[in-house]
Amino acid sequence: MSIIKKIEAMHKQYGITDGKKCGDCVNLIERQYGNKYFKCAVYGMSCSTSTDWAKKYQACGMFNVEVTPDKHRAISIRVPENEIMDGQIKIPLDSFERCDKPQEVEG
Ligand code: SF4
Repeated sequence: MSIIKKIEAMHKQYGITDGKKCGDCVNLIERQYGNKYFKCAVYGMSCSTSTDWAKKYQACGMFNVEVTPDKHRAISIRVPENEIMDGQIKIPLDSFERCDKPQEVEG
């Protein structure tokens, strides 16, 4: 399993809202724990830094679709290893020469 970025997981799950940023979304919630932090109510509102959010993120398809904040993570941020990610190339296994074949010896 590989970890993908939080906002990429949101885009994958809900799509993208062009021309908008998370900072303008009703689901971006400000929290004060000594310092000021932002959380996405759709993604999850735990106290962990793993749910910290940035105003500059490209808005997802849930932009301004109001939800009740939930401390639990709403979506998984993991993808199976065999799933091809954007920009990744695929090399078919049969394009490799097998190295466990018996070697032919000359002479
Ligand atoms: S719901 Fe709002 S704050 Fe959360 S990722 Fe989407 S646009 Fe950003």
